[in-house]
Amino acid sequence: MDAHQETVLINGRPLKYRIRRSKRARRVKVQVCRRDGVVVVLPWRTSRSIMPELLAYWGPWMDEHAEKLGVRLGPQLKQYASGSTVDILGEPCLVEVRELPPGRSRSRVERVANTLVMTLKPADVFDTRGVLEKYLRRVARNDLTTRTEYWAERLGLYPSRVIVGERTTRWGSCSPRGTLSFCYRLVMAPAHVVDAIVAHELCHLRHMNHGKGFYSLLGAVCPWYREADQWLRENHDDLML
Ligand SMILES: [Zn+2]
Repeated sequence: MDAHQETVLINGRPLKYRIRRSKRARRVKVQVCRRDGVVVVLPWRTSRSIMPELLAYWGPWMDEHAEKLGVRLGPQLKQYASGSTVDILGEPCLVEVRELPPGRSRSRVERVANTLVMTLKPADVFDTRGVLEKYLRRVARNDLTTRTEYWAERLGLYPSRVIVGERTTRWGSCSPRGTLSFCYRLVMAPAHVVDAIVAHELCHLRHMNHGKGFYSLLGAVCPWYREADQWLRENHDDLML
């Protein structure tokens, strides 16, 4: 990733960004997030010669957002140590890092009340984020499966499959074949927000659109869905390891 990083001066301050080519993009897009830093997405056929003009136009915006998210010099992948916190279903959990006792070879993460005890082998000590991600994916798979079963029962709508993976653009989706997919990072949100997304996707099993029928079905079982969507829009950047 670093190889493609470019540097530009905006208002006299350096800013790193990356150019990504996209076959699907129709227009130039500029994205700023903690995970990827500042990214300029160019449609496949757009020449790089537009960059100076583009940077003159988007520069101040990139500068402001990069500053706000702390990604002026590239993506910020947090690492965790004793004392860090991670939200699980909206509850802050305190991280505690311990050394693996002799005779054990596998790192593990265990939740004891609101403490996440990470017992790590030496090789994992510098990648606490990676270990936590694996743990969170497992928590998400269990939680979202159980929650989907509960809401499926209430709605009388049953998915053919539930997949929990990484979706950076959407929190959940429903395929025409009845497969529901969720982003694992959703389990960092409060439980009522997760419920609203699960109910939303299940309602798509009856209405494959966002029409009136869809919202009256969703609103009948989950009257707080608007508030949940709003919460996700506002806290989107914090649901990140
Ligand atoms: Zn939808």
